[in-house]
Amino acid sequence: MTPAGALLSAEDLHKAYGPTKALDGASFSVHRGEIVAVMGPSGSGKSTLLHCLAGIVLPDSGTLTYDGRSLESASDAERSALRRSEFGFVFQFGQLVPELSCLENVALPLRLNGTGRRPAERTARSWLERLEVDDLADKRPGEVSGGQGQRVAVARALVTGPRVLFADEPTGALDSLNGEHVMELLTEAARSADSAVVLVTHEPRVAAYSDREVVVRDGRSRDMERLV
Ligand code: ADP
Repeated sequence: MTPAGALLSAEDLHKAYGPTKALDGASFSVHRGEIVAVMGPSGSGKSTLLHCLAGIVLPDSGTLTYDGRSLESASDAERSALRRSEFGFVFQFGQLVPELSCLENVALPLRLNGTGRRPAERTARSWLERLEVDDLADKRPGEVSGGQGQRVAVARALVTGPRVLFADEPTGALDSLNGEHVMELLTEAARSADSAVVLVTHEPRVAAYSDREVVVRDGRSRDMERLV
């Protein structure tokens, strides 16, 4: 059953790697424009849940629904088309292409979707401005700091106007000041684009930027009441 109005939901997911039950009955939902933090200790199944939700990993059982469509029964080609057009991704280490400038990195998802170079770079530049790193447009990723690189990675993840942004420990490699700045810009940009965010983190300070927190423990999930 899909929770009423959810944009993306998972019900009773199971996923095993050999004897390890990475997911053992996890459920999850996110609504349009909502920011949900997935919390829990290392090894509890957070990344596996994110990968299932994004259609990167198929669960052994359970249902996944995106915008009324079944994800687990979609073909590989359908799931990768969905990832390209509707989802954006930010990981712990920006994973920018080292040979490309920051501007070219941000323009890349648009170029891959068939947008011409000039319009792609125009849009990319406006996203660099929103993330306050437009002065880095011509620099290579190796020439910018970790926090700056993450802001470029956020711009790249949002440049296509995704309906869901998946962020897996996006501040995990940053000090707390830089991490907070990245989270402020990430959540502000996602909200202005009306993108939902699935934010995997083990840091309560990062989770505090979300609308709702879900805790994963031993492959099972439960909603948290905010304690503050
Ligand atoms: P978290 O993100 O909370 O740290 P993960 O989802 O990465 O947790 O991992 C959950 C469990 O599944 C861990 O015990 C991990 O070692 C195992 N696991 C995850 N991915 C794989 C994989 N590709 N192959 C084998 N074991 C895996």
